[in-house]
Amino acid sequence: MSCPRIEVDLRKIRRNTQTVTRRLGPRGIGVTGVTKAVCGHPAIGQAMLDGGALGLADARINNVQRLRQAGIACSVTLIRTPMLSQADEVVGCCEVSYNTEIAVIAALASAAIRIDKVHGIILMVELGDQREGILPENVAEIAQQVMIMQGVALKGIGANFACLSGIAPTASQMASLCDLANEVEGVCGPFMKIVSGGNSANLPWALGERNTGRINDLRLGEAILLGIEPVSGDQIDGMHTDAFTLVAEVIETDAKPAPFRIALVDPTLTRLGIAPISGVTTRLILAIGHQDTDILGLSMPVGHTLIGATSDHLVIGTNQSVLKLGSEVRFQMDYKALMHAMAAPDIEVNLLHDQPATQSRQIHSKSEHLMLV
Ligand SMILES: *Cc1c(COP(=O)(O)O)cnc(C)c1O
Repeated sequence: MSCPRIEVDLRKIRRNTQTVTRRLGPRGIGVTGVTKAVCGHPAIGQAMLDGGALGLADARINNVQRLRQAGIACSVTLIRTPMLSQADEVVGCCEVSYNTEIAVIAALASAAIRIDKVHGIILMVELGDQREGILPENVAEIAQQVMIMQGVALKGIGANFACLSGIAPTASQMASLCDLANEVEGVCGPFMKIVSGGNSANLPWALGERNTGRINDLRLGEAILLGIEPVSGDQIDGMHTDAFTLVAEVIETDAKPAPFRIALVDPTLTRLGIAPISGVTTRLILAIGHQDTDILGLSMPVGHTLIGATSDHLVIGTNQSVLKLGSEVRFQMDYKALMHAMAAPDIEVNLLHDQPATQSRQIHSKSEHLMLV
């Protein structure tokens, strides 16, 4: 197997998706699986669908095209406001997109008419994250404009939290989104089919004590992929946090001469590798670097310490018996590290358990049957 590589345990992704869909289902909330951190990797998207996601979403049209080229036929939503210059591509491969600009919606409408389609529009409302969104007081008016355009159909409204601000949504913000859905219906008449409450940061709210009102969709990436609730960084109960493993190879094991001592006392010097780190007896050099991933987002295996990295080298210290040249070191990644590593051209992606559960059950029961005979 080649190095560096990412091992993806698809069974864990299916199970994580199943766990959240089963918890949210009784509350009337469906899950849209978000594939942007894995660059629209089709097998990972398929694992989300196998686990119960109702559809997929991505921020980039290239990623959606990758899903489509692999034969993924489910509903795909573009969750970043489309570029005006990409209206044709958006309409060509996404059923629905999130929008904040009427000029973009008009361009999508014209593009849809040209290919005899109707493109779904969800209006993104700004409720405090201060990234994208229409101000709540302007939503009804924009909704009315969308209603009278041909080529597009208003499907609902949505909001996003904790992406730019890092602040989790409050119950009152979620209630405002539900009120807004009612208000838009009051003005425009149509039933808002989708009221999308946000991303993985909304899970504590969605699974909490309070009524979840009209929210009927969450767009989940990090929770499914890493089993983590992004605001707290905590593992979500019952979810796998190790579906992805980054594997890198040791290319040098020799212990270096003792680092030169300098008088400055500065903790960053430890990271730079020019001050001694207690307990570290040997340095290892691995063939992976900033070019490949977000090094600070890697969790070091037990007994190993990050010393530093350059574009192509990762230097770690260990107090354990020396790993041989050519051996492999395995790391878990946070969201940023995962996102960069999945996009790195030199990292191979290896899929484990590429079989939905139903198929493996069939195989299993067949062999049981044979044993009985
Ligand atoms: C990235 C993103 C999501 C998914 O976020 P996670 O934290 O990975 O669940 C959902 N909605 C929008 C608009 C996004 O940009």
